[in-house]
Amino acid sequence: MSRKSGIGSMDLAGDVWLFDCGEATQHQLQKSVLRMGKIKKIFITHTHGDHIFGLVPLISTLANGAGGAVGDVGDPRLQTQLDIDPLEIYGPLGTRAYVRASLTYTHSVLARQYVVHELRFPDDPPDGDNSSLPIHTSEIPGRNIPQVDGVWRNIFRDDAVAVCAGPILHSVPCVGYVITEAPIPGKMDPKKYIPDIKRTKAPMTCMSRLQQGQSIELPDGTVLHGPPR
Ligand SMILES: [Zn+2]
Repeated sequence: MSRKSGIGSMDLAGDVWLFDCGEATQHQLQKSVLRMGKIKKIFITHTHGDHIFGLVPLISTLANGAGGAVGDVGDPRLQTQLDIDPLEIYGPLGTRAYVRASLTYTHSVLARQYVVHELRFPDDPPDGDNSSLPIHTSEIPGRNIPQVDGVWRNIFRDDAVAVCAGPILHSVPCVGYVITEAPIPGKMDPKKYIPDIKRTKAPMTCMSRLQQGQSIELPDGTVLHGPPR
């Protein structure tokens, strides 16, 4: 996981997750080393414009969209690419309605589906979309995730990472995301072993046995255990 640009982003085994999406985010992305096509999830902390004004333009670019398809007849963008995972967006109440209204009123047609999951505060309506507009043609119904014991646990989880969130004090409803990586099996931290190996003048070849998950006994009786595999 690494921060590779001034943009709030994470690179997860090639997938890119974006945190907030202010105005002109896609222009910043074009100048960065991040590959826009790898963006799989976008996490919005709150719906102030400087955190969300760039979201719909970015969605449109990622989904090969554009506005104003007259009549929508024969428009190749209407062939939704169902083989591509939908773009997943997380944010507080209002994120879904904002995206839906922006896409709807700009007559935007997307060639990829998207979904907006909302983290609902206790004072928010627990259900519904908070929108009088019908669902957009490219939108998949998202989850409304309730706060439990003051936090939103495991809003996303797979074998590698878990994402939780908690409320952040701000002038509008705001959430902070916490990403926890699972330990990587078999990954060895040499710094943990080298001082003991050097101190006891044991051969450095011990390291390869430790790397294989074995335990070794050093000349002074100290036992080192390789990482679990
Ligand atoms: Zn703000």
